Amino acid sequence: MVTIQSPQETLMRINRLKKEGKSIGFVPTMGALHEGHLSLMRKAKEENDVLVVSIFVNPIQFNNKNDLEKYPRNLEEDKKKLESVQCDILFAPTVEGMYPEPVTEKYDFGELEQVMEGAFRPGHFNGVAVVVKRLFDITLPDRAYFGEKDFQQLAIIRRLVEMEHLPLEIVPCPIVREENGLAMSSRNERLTPEQREKAAFIYQTLQLAKKRKDDLCPSPLKQMVVNIFDANPDFKLEYFEIADEKTLQPVTAWGKQENVRAFIAVWMGDVRLIDNIRLN
Ligand code: AMP
Repeated sequence: MVTIQSPQETLMRINRLKKEGKSIGFVPTMGALHEGHLSLMRKAKEENDVLVVSIFVNPIQFNNKNDLEKYPRNLEEDKKKLESVQCDILFAPTVEGMYPEPVTEKYDFGELEQVMEGAFRPGHFNGVAVVVKRLFDITLPDRAYFGEKDFQQLAIIRRLVEMEHLPLEIVPCPIVREENGLAMSSRNERLTPEQREKAAFIYQTLQLAKKRKDDLCPSPLKQMVVNIFDANPDFKLEYFEIADEKTLQPVTAWGKQENVRAFIAVWMGDVRLIDNIRLN
């Protein structure tokens, strides 16, 4: 594996590989790698000639200064994990390298960005779109891999690819969980072992919501989850939403949509966790 910091050098190297007819599988990450990330990389390695991974904690997608400052960073550990999945190129740029000039791009994702993460984290998805577009321009992927853990992000990236007519395929990958059901996340590193055990409650509640779907309409089902979290002092619920998988708009009655998913964002101390589950 080669590690490259410079965007220009990365672009030149990948350009050469593409001219040789090699296909590029790309996995963008913010590091602090775990099995969730590695599952995307294994798939990308399997389906392409060359695996390119980026590690970049993107400041412009953080709307919370504390979250950015405390985001876990451990490049040396990450490199070992990348070797284990036979990553070919690690692109690990600096903030100055990615943003030599002030960022001016403004994307409009319409209703997709007005709900859930978009509503509670102003500017987040614009920051995501700006960095992902730049990363695509540098790494020239044939396929790029994204986790369903960040389901709304996946929808935004698909829209970005459509809007910008980008010649690449977006490959969705299922959520990887801890043994207790907690969705793997770099932010889990900031939980104490005890909190990490207790955080299994989030997925247990999502599973309960799925189980009660046939007895309850969306609105009382949502209320049930709100009540469950109100009664648990370990968490502060930010939102629980039931939405159409395609439009991400709230579902008020069952039956009209093809696929419906429940989405949750919850605070455990000063750590914000998200998860989702398909309901049908
Ligand atoms: P991040 O480093 O958090 O920006 O995540 C990089 C990529 O890994 C994104 O496409 C995430 O959706 C994906 N990812 C993160 N956690 C998981 C997980 N538990 N299961 C599957 N994919 C994940």
